[in-house]
Amino acid sequence: MTDVILVLNAGSSSIKFRAYYVEGDVADGELGLGLHGQVEALFSAPHFIAYDQHGAQVGEKHWGDGAKLSHEDGIQTISDFLTSHRGDSRLIAVGHRVVHGGEKFAKSVLATPQVLDELDKLTPLAPLHQPHNLKPIRIVAAMHPHLPQVACFDTAFHRSQAELAQAFALPESITSRGVRRYGFHGLSYEYIAQALPDFSARAAAGRTIVAHLGNGASMCAMQAGRSVASTMGFTAVDGLPMGTRCGSLDPGVILYLLEELKMDAHAIEDLIYKESGLLGVSGVSGDMRKLLASDAPRARFAIDLYAYRIGREIGSLAAALQGLDALVFTAGIGENSAEVRRRAAQQAAWLGIELDGAANDAGGPRISTPSSNVEVWTIPTDEELMIARHTQAVIGTL
Ligand code: AMP
Repeated sequence: MTDVILVLNAGSSSIKFRAYYVEGDVADGELGLGLHGQVEALFSAPHFIAYDQHGAQVGEKHWGDGAKLSHEDGIQTISDFLTSHRGDSRLIAVGHRVVHGGEKFAKSVLATPQVLDELDKLTPLAPLHQPHNLKPIRIVAAMHPHLPQVACFDTAFHRSQAELAQAFALPESITSRGVRRYGFHGLSYEYIAQALPDFSARAAAGRTIVAHLGNGASMCAMQAGRSVASTMGFTAVDGLPMGTRCGSLDPGVILYLLEELKMDAHAIEDLIYKESGLLGVSGVSGDMRKLLASDAPRARFAIDLYAYRIGREIGSLAAALQGLDALVFTAGIGENSAEVRRRAAQQAAWLGIELDGAANDAGGPRISTPSSNVEVWTIPTDEELMIARHTQAVIGTL
């Protein structure tokens, strides 16, 4: 009988799943990827797809355009599929990605009802993610009341930051309510930090900036694999421009939107989370592939702004680190777009960054020249494996 840890990464309209086989002891056995896939477009054109450990497609279902599935339906679909493909295995725990752990949760925890109540309170800090991350935990708890479930936080990795790096210049009465910089994409950064020694001793032990460039995007300054500073702050809308999020914005703009344009909080939330970033600037798409393929001048401008902002933030994070040994690109855009990497690195050429064009076009992993002052790498991230490792560690202590 093989033990399996299931990882669920739920968003507003999709649920990704990955089943990991524990090879050996539950607490420290190797994790091997087994069945994986997702249910996507839950409320528009639901589609389930599943693959085996070799990447061969082993399941698919379409519900048709206009059909709607609840998160419960989505999880039931995944559960039915896994049950029918269970073979000689048993589910021992489920790990979940939870975007916000607030000040309290600096590491992964068993998701008890009390913990879930605490995490509910953080919804205002991540309104578009937190409720969707918590819902599946309750759905699974109703289906399997005795199955251990573990909440793994995108904020936890950044709790190592100094108080200075987490502070806004606001009165203590506001700061004490938890209004501070949290940072996100921590599961991705932690995975990269654990992978770095396999690529470069200098990057692992030194001052490294990791650029997580996906639909959501942020950068993290690491010293010896620990988070020192991040571009994201109180919420996941800060920092770099993203697919549809605006990134850093003068708070005066929000006042202008409220007072002069008479927008209410909900309209502003939609604007800064869903209608800005690459989509808002280009007017074409929030998807980098589409922008790179477009001739529209606004699409070019959106990419220019994206690269420029990355360059500015590299400068800021290099200052936080007091120098730079390595730059790592990861996530959808960072792993796959040689052009965005080239343009972002160009913006930081003054730091002595020299890309090897052929290595960059080939996708790395090392994409800097031997004489570059700063090593540049592309390393694929794996947030789900990180969640499985945390889940394993937590249930190993039970
Ligand atoms: P993620 O959220 O990590 O899945 O990343 C999604 C982003 O990666 C989208 O903007 C995609 O357009 C972008 N992306 C994926 N593949 C490529 C590629 N080959 N070239 C450019 N962008 C890509």
